[in-house]
Amino acid sequence: MVSRWMALTVWLFASVARSAAAGLPEPEEEQIVRIEVRGAGDLTALSALGASVLACEIRDGPVDVLVPRDSIGVLEAAGLAPVLVDPNPEFTHRVVRRRAMATLARGDDADWWADYKPLDAFYDKMLEMQARRPDLVEVFEFGRSYEGRPLLAMRITAPMDADAACRPAVLLNTLTHAREWVPPMANMYVAETLINGYGQDPYLTGLLDDVEWVFVPVLNPDGYAFSWTDDRFWRKNRNPNNSDLVRNQGVDLNRNYGYQWGLSPGSSGSRRSGNYRGVAPFSEPETAAFRDLAESMPQLRIHNDMHSFSELILFAWGYTPEASPDRALHQAVGDRMAGLIHQYRGRSYEVGPGYTTIYPTSGASNDWFYGRLGVLSYTYELGRRFDEQPSEMRLLVEESLPASLYHGEFVAGYYRFRADLNRDCTHDFFDLVEYLSLYAQGSDAADIDGSGISDVQDVIEFLDLLVSKR
Ligand SMILES: [Zn+2]
Repeated sequence: MVSRWMALTVWLFASVARSAAAGLPEPEEEQIVRIEVRGAGDLTALSALGASVLACEIRDGPVDVLVPRDSIGVLEAAGLAPVLVDPNPEFTHRVVRRRAMATLARGDDADWWADYKPLDAFYDKMLEMQARRPDLVEVFEFGRSYEGRPLLAMRITAPMDADAACRPAVLLNTLTHAREWVPPMANMYVAETLINGYGQDPYLTGLLDDVEWVFVPVLNPDGYAFSWTDDRFWRKNRNPNNSDLVRNQGVDLNRNYGYQWGLSPGSSGSRRSGNYRGVAPFSEPETAAFRDLAESMPQLRIHNDMHSFSELILFAWGYTPEASPDRALHQAVGDRMAGLIHQYRGRSYEVGPGYTTIYPTSGASNDWFYGRLGVLSYTYELGRRFDEQPSEMRLLVEESLPASLYHGEFVAGYYRFRADLNRDCTHDFFDLVEYLSLYAQGSDAADIDGSGISDVQDVIEFLDLLVSKR
């Protein structure tokens, strides 16, 4: 162990000095190796090297790491036992991109999910959905990225009537991290399913009659565009922060949210790090605009930040091992999501708070949405790789659909019915009157704790619900 660390330390010093002088190697000078991570020490070492760990969030076990071609011997000498996975990932991804562009060029509108899509295709598809169903879909710009690209959101709900402002809202975003190409396809699939099902399928129709859905398929358009043109494994946004860094500039948007921001471990103050938190909470135009969008939605009840990969469903807290006040509710909804995913083809997702399920995070979206806005908030880590074959991507898109739809089902049932019984957008005395009426009738709807009988404990729980959801 001692010799391993000595070798690693020598390598790290040399490597950091080289990075500082000349920047990291170009993509075509890198390869992917798999190593076994055995604790935070290994991660610190890899981070100091400037090696890019190819995972959204990190946990112990086998991980793929992007390293310079000449580093295999050093890794071996350090006892990290690297196994070569891809000697030329840049070539591999050129093939992937070429195939996807050829699929796009064929204009196969019947199956938009046949392959990955570049940035403009997302914008085009959103506008096409709006043109197809202007009664259901509204596309709007909620800000601009660092490089000035529009940040587009898509609101989908049934035509507005008197109670439309009451509709609980679900917010689903993807592409916080540029290299995670499967989740935005899944995001668009939820939107497409809702639009196509409205007026055709009672379940889907209800989900648009009772719920306002807001989709943000591409939160990090600069990074996403860059991952297509220059660097397939780009993670952060493209803010250089007055730095002369070339390859590892940018801010990790999922460490830039303003709740318990700036902690280490959990985020990094180094601009080189893949987890660089930025200079201040919400310093980045992408996260600031997304914050403003969320704060403009008073009926927002659940948020789903979809990433890839690892087959995880995470929630607050990320910054502390302590349980949040709503841990049990988060767990129950998360377990239901995992159950729906499992039904599709038996894939098992682990569900739990970020801090204790993976590693600590600070400034991540779940903590801000839950801690600041009081809404349920999930990080859904979809799949097993960044790059899947189109056939596998299609399976992931379909596999994730019921769990995403369930969020709408949950907010419609739990929040509207249980606390806002007369659906007037507030939880007040009149709801209590309605509840006591149901209770007096012995209605199942008055059985708040699901115990099978309506008793005084249910009345107490309803009062708690009224107070907590005001
Ligand atoms: Zn991610």
